[in-house]
Amino acid sequence: MTKHIVVLGAGYSGLLAAKLAAGHAGATVTLVNARDRFVERVRLHQFAAGQELGDRRLTDLLDGTGVSLVVDEVTGIDADAKTVRLANRPEPVPYDTLVYALGSQADLDTVPGVREHAVAVAGLEQAATLRERAHGTVAVVGGGLTGIEAATELAETCPDLKVRLVTGGVLGGAFSERGRKHVRRVFERLNIDVRDEVRVAEVRADGVVLADGEHLSADTVVWTTGFRVSPLARAAGFDVDEHGRMVVDDTLRSVSHPDVYGVGDAAAAHMSNGQELRMACATGIPCAVYAVRAIGDRMAGKQARPLKFRYFNQCVSLGRRDGLIQFVRADDSPTEKLLTGRMAAL
Ligand SMILES: Cc1cc2nc3c(=O)[nH]c(=O)nc-3n(C[C@H](O)[C@H](O)[C@H](O)COP(=O)(O)OP(=O)(O)OC[C@H]3O[C@@H](n4cnc5c(N)ncnc54)[C@H](O)[C@@H]3O)c2cc1C
Repeated sequence: MTKHIVVLGAGYSGLLAAKLAAGHAGATVTLVNARDRFVERVRLHQFAAGQELGDRRLTDLLDGTGVSLVVDEVTGIDADAKTVRLANRPEPVPYDTLVYALGSQADLDTVPGVREHAVAVAGLEQAATLRERAHGTVAVVGGGLTGIEAATELAETCPDLKVRLVTGGVLGGAFSERGRKHVRRVFERLNIDVRDEVRVAEVRADGVVLADGEHLSADTVVWTTGFRVSPLARAAGFDVDEHGRMVVDDTLRSVSHPDVYGVGDAAAAHMSNGQELRMACATGIPCAVYAVRAIGDRMAGKQARPLKFRYFNQCVSLGRRDGLIQFVRADDSPTEKLLTGRMAAL
């Protein structure tokens, strides 16, 4: 009997899952996405800094795959009826198997004033707002990969801006000592002021206020710390963790709903040692491959093969002319091996 696989979200993991699932004999695949374009989230800091991104129409990317595309917003999932509700269609979409890949967005509610006064780079519209609004002194809050990429890109591409990075941890804390030194050197070269190991307590129209009361003035505040996921998994009654990410087993299948799989930022997947995978395309893409393989195994009446995942490297761009590839152990901890400069940027 033909199975209808419905994939929600055409980001890195959902788009790949839909294309791979269409290769299963006996499957029809529908991909639902809020917009008709693929958004290259990993390049949104470049877009925010004024560079152009490729225009990637989903119909072109799906051409010849047999996947049916529905451009609409998912507003709910009825897990008992096995249907998906959409904003602009009266009839819900039925599924036999659901792949939940709705990604993540910036969390703008962790600190007072962020939603009112800061801009983010986690979504296309937010990055477009930053592109329009960035002027004078720009304070990038968050010293993770997104914050480092945003700060260096803005400083290099927009020399009129004065960029500062404000972070609770140590700049490049996830990297080895050599990696951290390289990032520091690039920040110095690009004249980016760093305030690390401080906590932002409030964002105001004229800058940020630190936990000790110090005011750092800024004309534009860029919020890169913290991501949140869609509330739809929780609302549907799927088991979720405290952040709302779908809890999945080692075959990426929902632990509460056997016809549902979760991949990418929207799901909390784990390595065989129990370590949770971080939100990244580097993890979402392999999870999509394994989830679809597990679906295929089960359709064929076989035992589903579990996720096998290990980390190899962390890649961070430091503007267009420099980058850092930090080689890591299987558990993502940094080794002393790295690649920097133009080669890494490429
Ligand atoms: C500036 C920046 C740089 C980054 N750099 C890197 C990097 O170098 N390496 C790396 O590994 N990761 C990086 N990341 C993280 C990476 O982008 C995410 O982990 C990745 O996009 C997650 O993929 P995903 O498929 O889970 O979801 P997403 O890419 O977020 O896609 C989710 C899709 O679901 C759709 N959607 C959401 N809600 C609905 C709804 N209700 N109805 C219909 N459609 C919906 C969205 O429109 C979107 O198309 C970066 C992120 C940012 C913001």
